[in-house]
Amino acid sequence: MKIDRANLAEVFSSIQGEGLHIGRRQVFIRFIGCNLACEYCDTHLFDRAEECRLETNPGRGDFFTLANPVPISRVTDLIAGWLSGWPGVHHSISLTGGEPLLHLEVLREWVVKLKGLLPLHLETNGLLYSALGSIVRHLDYISMDIKLPSSTGEETNWDHHREFLAVASATEMAVKVVVNSATQHWEIIRAAEMTAAISRSIPFIIQPETGQELSLKIGTGELIELQELASGTLDDVRIIPQTHRFIGLL
Ligand code: SF4
Repeated sequence: MKIDRANLAEVFSSIQGEGLHIGRRQVFIRFIGCNLACEYCDTHLFDRAEECRLETNPGRGDFFTLANPVPISRVTDLIAGWLSGWPGVHHSISLTGGEPLLHLEVLREWVVKLKGLLPLHLETNGLLYSALGSIVRHLDYISMDIKLPSSTGEETNWDHHREFLAVASATEMAVKVVVNSATQHWEIIRAAEMTAAISRSIPFIIQPETGQELSLKIGTGELIELQELASGTLDDVRIIPQTHRFIGLL
C-alpha cells in the first residue's frame, strides 16, 4: 500500500547547529516519536503533536499548521517553492526527529522525491540498522549517535550501534557522542574503538551536553581528555557544541 502521509512535528529552514555540516543552511523535516527516552532530550514535547507546523517562507518563523498525518506531497511542494524562491540558499534536507527511521514506510515513498530537490542528510540515534538498510542508497550524509549510558540514563545497545555503523559506512557519515561530567573514559574508548573497527577516518564528534541556560554540563579540561582518548584509535576527533542554541535558532 502506498503511504502518502507522514506524522511530522515541524518543517522549517535554519542553520545546522551540530556535527559535520555545522553552519550550513538546511531544510529540516522533523518526524514525531522516538524509540529512546534520553534524559537530555529536547524534542519530547512533539511526541503527541496533533498538528505539524510549517514555515511559509524559509527561515522567517511565519508558521502555519496542518493536521497530522500531513500529505507528503504538500511538504514536497512547499520545499520546492522555497528552492525556486530562494535559489542556491540551502545545502541539503535534514531528516530529523525524534527518530526518522521509525517512519520507514513513508520514507521509502518519499526519499526519492526529496532527493530530487536537495541532497539528503539523516540525523539518527543510530540503532535501527535494518530500516537504514532499506533507504541508505538514497542518502548523501548520515549523522549517527552512539548513545552513552552516562548521558541518556539508559543502557547502550552496543550491538545495534555496531550493525548500524556497518550499514551507514556505505555513505558519507559521522558519529556523534553527547557527553557530560558523568561520562566515563571507558564509554568513549568503547565508542571510538567500535567506530575505528569500521574506519579510522570516520569523523567522531564529541558534543558537550548543553543546559537550559546554555552552560555546558562538562568542563573544558574533561572534554580535552575525552578528545585525547578517542584520538588513540581515530584520526578525526572533534569537539563541537550545539551552536544553533547560542544564536537563538531552531
Ligand atoms: S534519541 Fe534523540 S530524539 Fe530520541 S530521546 Fe534521545 S535525544 Fe530525544
